[in-house]
Amino acid sequence: MELQSIIDMDQNYFMNTYGSRTQVCFTHGEGMTLHATDGKTYMDLLGGIAVNALGHSHPALVNAITDQAKKIIHCSSLYYIEQQAKLAKLLVENSCADKVFFANSGAEANEGAIKLARLYFRKKDQPDRFEIITLEKSFHGRTLATLAATGQEKYQKNYSPLTPKFLSVPINDLDALRGAITDYTCAIMLEPIQGESGVNLTSIEYMHGVRELCDQYGILLIFDEVQCGLGRTGKLFGYQHYGIEPDIFTLAKALGGGFPIGALLAKNQFASSFEPGDHGSTFGGNPLACAAGLAALSVILDEKLVENSFTMGEYLISELVKVSKTSPVITDVRGKGLMIGIQLGSPIAKELTKKCFDAGFLVGSVGNDIVRLLPPLIITKSDIDTFIAFFSTILP
Ligand code: PLP
Repeated sequence: MELQSIIDMDQNYFMNTYGSRTQVCFTHGEGMTLHATDGKTYMDLLGGIAVNALGHSHPALVNAITDQAKKIIHCSSLYYIEQQAKLAKLLVENSCADKVFFANSGAEANEGAIKLARLYFRKKDQPDRFEIITLEKSFHGRTLATLAATGQEKYQKNYSPLTPKFLSVPINDLDALRGAITDYTCAIMLEPIQGESGVNLTSIEYMHGVRELCDQYGILLIFDEVQCGLGRTGKLFGYQHYGIEPDIFTLAKALGGGFPIGALLAKNQFASSFEPGDHGSTFGGNPLACAAGLAALSVILDEKLVENSFTMGEYLISELVKVSKTSPVITDVRGKGLMIGIQLGSPIAKELTKKCFDAGFLVGSVGNDIVRLLPPLIITKSDIDTFIAFFSTILP
């Protein structure tokens, strides 16, 4: 179908929550490359916003999905599901968690985490501990509770009254966090590395301080690893950069390699608060989603994509730092692994993103002054060299 016909149909029938989109529609892809309706190809350095960790059409993922679809797509969690049990086992064996629950998205996994934290205290006869502290500039999802958890007014402003008892404090400010803790506090929820606000890192001292405060006051620590988890930052999980462990954490995005699935993971002590009837999902953890998750996670582990994310991330960041020495418009390059924000000193992020697109590179922008890169974890040195050679030519 011609691009213009797709645009016309979209404008007539699709709710306009995404505004005027980039003028392209992709038909297929392989590896780092996406092909558009007009035959033009693009190097994907955004990976569907940290989703396509294996790149496009990885044979192991495609085969797992097609094989599973031929057998059974969905039954219900009223019955035992082999793929669900296997994916839960693989996640537990590779993380600090003891138990897993599957959802369909990051927001849904976070909703589950919030419910679990509140339930934990309710079942300990402390029903007044329901308040959740999050960080400013965080992003936890678009449902009403996760919007309340999200520390960015722009997402919340039209949806009041928000779910009550969430408050946010500045990142890397332990005094602010300590000052926000009350007898009602049940959990602190944060992204080890913030994604949607343009790649903001928590410091090691801060994260140790947060863990200590949680232990001191008996507060649960929830990490939202929806974006930074599963190898994105050069470790399998973001928390592994800090030498501390969360009590509960969430995953989504890369978990299905592009197939929708989210997960809520917790240590036994907290996971056991969920008893029969306390939580559920019609689609969450169905055979097809879990077959995709099993394939995606197996590829991430077996093909050493975490290690590749680490080494390629270091290389990409160092090349960008080199570029910044000759282009003063870049005022900071921050990130870990392949989760990278390029801070600009002037509001030209959208212009740069457009120039990249026109030349066949997909990158993201956050606001007007941050370019964000979240490439598939399979990226090579030669891909990086190709991108850097172009990117360095478009900076003022
Ligand atoms: N949490 C984080 C850290 C995210 O980056 C996102 C999405 O960008 C979400 C939660 C929401 O995930 P989803 O869009 O799958 O609901």
